[in-house]
Amino acid sequence: MGACARTGQCCELIMLDHSPRLIRESYENWKYSKPNTVQYQDIELMYPMLAGRCKGKKDFGGTMKYIYGPCRNFDRDEKGLPLCAIHQNKPRMCSGYPHYQTPIAVVMNTKTNDNPGWFRGCGFNSDPSYGGTLETMALGIQPLTDEEK
Ligand code: SF4
Repeated sequence: MGACARTGQCCELIMLDHSPRLIRESYENWKYSKPNTVQYQDIELMYPMLAGRCKGKKDFGGTMKYIYGPCRNFDRDEKGLPLCAIHQNKPRMCSGYPHYQTPIAVVMNTKTNDNPGWFRGCGFNSDPSYGGTLETMALGIQPLTDEEK
């Protein structure tokens, strides 16, 4: 199971299935639609935290992920510990990490059950050496097409 070890890595480098264009258009749809219309979950929180923060995309063994970060709500306290400015109201993709949607560990096809976190030192990994670092996860990032921007 594990618990958050407050490394902050998942706020510094966020991997999503969705392009900046899809997120922006979903946000616009949310803004101009009638109340109670079914929407992309938590888009009103996600768009402001990710807008302008996409670094590109990366192929994880045939599964493309869009790489964002750092989140606009991410900060550190005087001791250097990570802080979330909207902790009480953060989107489910954050409160459900690393079990929200498909963990990248599945994509990477490794010790999925014991090590669902994407990053080395993540408290959800039973093996402290498992997972990428911010540097290795950033390797191989490709530019977006005009359709994805
Ligand atoms: S909203 Fe908070 S928990 Fe989610 S990525 Fe941003 S800083 Fe991290």
